[in-house]
Amino acid sequence: MISDSIIIFTNFAIKILLMDNTRSTICAIATAPGNGAIAVIRVSGPDAIAISNSIFYSKNKIEIKDKEAYSIIFGDIKEGEELIDEVLISIFKNPKSYTGEDSIEISCHGSIYIQQRILELLIKNGAILAEPGEFTQRAFLNGKMDLAQAEGVADLIASESRAMHQISIQQLKGGFSSELELLRAEMLNFSALIELELDFSEEDVEFADRTALSKLVNKLDKSISKLLDSFSYGNAIKNGVPVTIVGRPNAGKSTLLNALLNEERAIVSSIAGTTRDTIEELFVIGGVQFRFIDTAGLRKTEDEIEQIGVQRALDKIEKSAFYIYLFDSQLMSIQDVAEDLSQLSQDVPRIIVANKLDLISTERLSEFTNSLLKPLTISARQKGGIEDLKKALLEKINYKENQNNIVISNIRHFEALTKAKEAIDRVLVGIESNIQTDFLAMDMRDASYFIGSITGNISNDDVLGNIFQNFCIGK
Ligand code: GDP
Repeated sequence: MISDSIIIFTNFAIKILLMDNTRSTICAIATAPGNGAIAVIRVSGPDAIAISNSIFYSKNKIEIKDKEAYSIIFGDIKEGEELIDEVLISIFKNPKSYTGEDSIEISCHGSIYIQQRILELLIKNGAILAEPGEFTQRAFLNGKMDLAQAEGVADLIASESRAMHQISIQQLKGGFSSELELLRAEMLNFSALIELELDFSEEDVEFADRTALSKLVNKLDKSISKLLDSFSYGNAIKNGVPVTIVGRPNAGKSTLLNALLNEERAIVSSIAGTTRDTIEELFVIGGVQFRFIDTAGLRKTEDEIEQIGVQRALDKIEKSAFYIYLFDSQLMSIQDVAEDLSQLSQDVPRIIVANKLDLISTERLSEFTNSLLKPLTISARQKGGIEDLKKALLEKINYKENQNNIVISNIRHFEALTKAKEAIDRVLVGIESNIQTDFLAMDMRDASYFIGSITGNISNDDVLGNIFQNFCIGK
């Protein structure tokens, strides 16, 4: 059992340790590395205003320290008499800033040289270079956001598609955190009922109605399962939904990939078996990032390298969200198609696509469209039917824009939720088998511990270190 007092004490100790670092004033370049029209340098900490003030000179002698929060001043950054740049200074005062501390943002011209000189000047005057993620870590420590929201910031910065943007912005805005708070409140409710019984354990009374308890625990179990189920979708959205393209050599797999990508990246050739290895391409369709895996053609072969390629294609299917089976509608009959399909995975969902529509008669086309397999029909070379295929791809992952369901995409959250569910399941079994009350209380406390670890109510410095070191410097 993880005792509450130990948890509270450890958290307190960690916060004190980490807060000690926040007595320093940190600085970093917050914009992307390299030259740009402008760059932004961030300074945060107790001396942010004094340090910035000591290197800044405004035309009418206004000092940063005398200005109000949220004001912007124009002036020069100088080292001695040397003018480094003309800049804009934005002022944020504790606690109303991103980090919750006094903070300054210096918008300078975006030369790498200027950025470096200003950074060096800040350091000479007492600031230290920020660690990756340290601004956000301070925001977390100062209670500006919880851990799940801080991770949402990192995901938001990394998001490359509308779908991932939607997931991370919801996390940042606290949608996921409120759901977790609700779960924890219900868990505490359960513990309160159960612990009352423990207080009167000598008297052998049952305060908490077991049927009501198991109803509550079942509800918790369902909510956690729903979050856990969303992970495969969330994770796919984050890393690109893996889709394998398979078919016989010359079916047009590379041409299809190119039509989808709208550029000639894979090698297209009319010699059978050129795509011996697998090629992966990431791109966004309708707001979702897909990871397309083009594979070696499916055929029995004596060529050792090609055999490895074919086996690799079959392995790739197993790891895909679904696969596209593509065939040459001019050369293959519906029976040939059925035969190929019978040799491929029956568990992984698929989209069957007939290619080279431009080469076949309407009678032949209706043979395919009237068959039970009902393939989608396209001409990869002429880019016909590609829009329908894109629609089918989005339908396959059940993507709906602006859906309000909470989706988890972070493996740390998934693992914590899995452990919480295991503890909840032990409570359920415990209630059914009339287990001793203190065991129920113990398991429920474990469950709420794991839920709390997601938002950082309960955390340790290893976890925090791991999370923030994956951020970029300046965030
Ligand atoms: P892969 O082996 O499955 O990757 O097939 P490729 O993409 O290399 O295509 C094999 C040949 O079929 C190439 O000559 C392509 O130009 C041709 N091809 C692909 N798609 C079409 C199509 O829709 N219509 C026609 N007429 N030819 C196509």
